[in-house]
Amino acid sequence: MKKQIMSINFDSVTMDEAVSAAEGCIASAEKCMVVTPNAEIAYAAEKDKKFADLINGAKLVLPDGVGVVLASKILGDPVKQKVAGVEFAENLIKTTNHPIFFFGGKPGVAEAARDNMKVKYPSCNIVGVRDGYFKDKDIPEIIAQINNSGAKIVFVCLGAPKQELFIQAHMNEMNAFVFAGLGGSLDVFAGTAKRAPEFFVKFGLEWLYRLIKQPSRIKRMSVLPLYIMESIKYKLGGKK
Ligand code: UDP
Repeated sequence: MKKQIMSINFDSVTMDEAVSAAEGCIASAEKCMVVTPNAEIAYAAEKDKKFADLINGAKLVLPDGVGVVLASKILGDPVKQKVAGVEFAENLIKTTNHPIFFFGGKPGVAEAARDNMKVKYPSCNIVGVRDGYFKDKDIPEIIAQINNSGAKIVFVCLGAPKQELFIQAHMNEMNAFVFAGLGGSLDVFAGTAKRAPEFFVKFGLEWLYRLIKQPSRIKRMSVLPLYIMESIKYKLGGKK
């Protein structure tokens, strides 16, 4: 079920429902884009209607982060739960029988991500990898590589909005059915970026952990309170 959080219609789903929805797209041979906006991305969409339309055009819009969940509570119509993109990706790797392609990250990251996932989930089916640094002229070759791999699911990890724009522009040239924009997930699987320890996750402080590890993100992250303030303004303005 979709729930409107200001400009974005998020899916209010559990993790299992999100994974089943992706499986359903393959079963019904339906092309579907999966996006995983956190507060930072959702705030960018508040300021850019075209980007909001692009996100709202996705089949699955997963609330990635406590900021989005909090905004939904402030607006009085909470989503079921946070469904972090990186966890969605890992659950899909763990449970699906369909072939997956990893696209994105610096050279070597997608390979390391695949190797680590194969150790963790020996029966997972990762059929190809490709780094995310390319020129426009390389795109036909990238698409050919993805198609030749036989992948039915493509993880597009180029950061937002690059990954969403790539999916929108090229989804129909690819034979896969599920195209998920997953930001830095391959860095997490590769071990080049660490997930927050349990403590931070439990208290909804993953953003703080990311900030401690990468203080240069402070500027990007300063939109988190702005996004929450926007939702309060929205609520007080009686728009919802
Ligand atoms: N990236 C890429 N190609 C680019 C720009 C970025 O493959 O042209 C990758 C980058 O190496 C990183 C990911 O995209 O793995 C973006 O990570 P970030 O943590 O910024 O994403 P977020 O999840 O915050 O959107």
